[in-house]
Order: sequence, then C-alpha cells, then structure tokens
Amino acid sequence: MDYIDLHLHTLHSDGMLTVEELLSLVASENISCASITDHDTFDAYATAPEIAKRLGLELITGIEISSVNNGRDIHILGYFCDVQNAELLAALKIQREKRKDRVKAILEKLQKLGVNLSYEQVEERCFGASISRPHIALALMEAKYVDSFREAFERYLKEGAAAYCPPTGLSCREAISLIKKAGGLAVMAHPEYTNADELIPKLVECGIAGLEVYNYKTAKSMKKYKKFAKKYKLIETGGSDFHGIAIGLFGKQNLPYSIVEELKKKLN
Ligand code: AMP
Ligand code: MN
Ligand code: MN
Ligand code: MN
Repeated sequence: MDYIDLHLHTLHSDGMLTVEELLSLVASENISCASITDHDTFDAYATAPEIAKRLGLELITGIEISSVNNGRDIHILGYFCDVQNAELLAALKIQREKRKDRVKAILEKLQKLGVNLSYEQVEERCFGASISRPHIALALMEAKYVDSFREAFERYLKEGAAAYCPPTGLSCREAISLIKKAGGLAVMAHPEYTNADELIPKLVECGIAGLEVYNYKTAKSMKKYKKFAKKYKLIETGGSDFHGIAIGLFGKQNLPYSIVEELKKKLN
C-alpha cells in the first residue's frame, strides 16, 4: 500500500533538507504522493516537479501560510494553488518581508538580554529562504548562547519567552481567500498545536475545505478534531510536518490516498 504525506518542509523555509534530499527520502518510504508546504514560499516548486517526476512521486502543490489572529500564529495550508498566481505571490513576498522585520525585532530584544547576534549571522543559516525563528535558534547554537534548538525556543523564542515578538501578517480570512483565488483549497494546519478551537467556525465561514486531523500527539486529540471535521463537513487531511531534523511522524502515519481523492473531488 502506498501512502501520502501532505505536510513537509525544505531548506526554502525552516526545513533542513534540500528539495532533492527531502523528496528522495520521501520516495524511500512507502509514500507515493507528497506535498511540500514551506512557510510563505513556493520557491521549492522551481525544482520539485521535475525531481518528483524522476522519483515517480505524485507531487501536490502546497504552501503553509503564517496568518495572524489576535497576535497569534494560525497556520493555513494551501493545496493545488497556481504557483504563478500574481496576487498570491505578491502577498507571500510581503509576508517574507514581515518575517525579516520580526527577526530584527527579536534580535533587538536579544541584544538587551546580552545576546549579540547580527542579522547577517541569522541570514547565513537560512540560504535565502523564508527567514524564521528556527534560523535564529540555529545561530544561537552556533554562537554557543544555547546548547540545543529546544533551549533556544524555551529560553528566548517561544510565545511568552524573553525575546518573543508577536508575528504580523495576513489575517486568516485574507490567507484563505488568496489560496482560493489561486485555485487552491485551504486547510487549517495542526489544530492541536495551534490551540485555537474557538476559531474553527470562523475559518469554516472563511471557506476552509479541510482540517489537518492527522497531526496529533494523542489519540484523544485526533478524536476531538475528527468530530470538528464531521460537524463542519471538512476533509480530514494529514501530514508529518517533517522539517528534516526530528523524524517525528515522518513515514509512520500511513495515511491513505483516499484523502487526496477527496481533495481532488472538492476541487472540481
Ligand atoms: P516562525 O515562522 O518564525 O514563527 O517560526 C515558527 C517555526 O518554528 C515553526 O514552523 C516550527 O518549525 C518552529 N517552532 C515553533 N515553536 C517551536 C518550539 N517550541 N520548539 C521548536 N521549534 C519550534
Ligand atoms: Mn516550521
Ligand atoms: Mn505550522
Ligand atoms: Mn509546517
């Protein structure tokens, strides 16, 4: 049986693997259909279709947009978008500029805490990609301010930590609308991790097609989100959210291809 994974990151955002490395690894698992969902960028799609074809993988266009609601991140996945859609590309460019501003604001806070990192030191970790907090974490490790990635988030970067700065960017409504206008389907990513269940009815009203039910820590939470999906007639999607470091759910989810069939049916 061949399975799917609809949530993967590459070096074009905060993943650790190149598109080639990631897709080769995906193909070495029993996964036949995958979607690369980098944060706020389609850059992976410059090379991914050709590589996937060579590896015999079905590739579904994907993105993970960092939208913001009340100062908190709400990640919206977009599938089957036209990666050339001008309006979406322009909005993503602005998102990436805002990411740079946020990283600079975090670095200022770090400096006040006696942690001296330059923007260039962080940028070096990011290979021209969509810059984000994990790149700061890597720079903090490299400069020996912390011993681990985890410590960087716990001490400085996570919500509520000493150098935390809230994100700015598209609203959920705007992100969903842009995905739809680019011919795609919007899905709320990792609802358990996002921890904003009260927002689900609003996202439904904005037009999400699915809920990422299969990305959970406990079976109890999967049951909970299956109920939400049923109540609001949302497609139950899933993926590992693999970043190339911790294996986590990667290769272990065994998600059936019928999920993709449902998405395709909804698209038509
Ligand atoms: P940003 O897009 O700059 O807000 O960074 C968010 C990314 O950081 C997420 O996509 C995760 O990959 C990673 N991340 C968020 N929170 C944590 C955490 N507590 N520990 C490790 N990585 C995290
Ligand atoms: Mn990430
Ligand atoms: Mn996410
Ligand atoms: Mn992700």
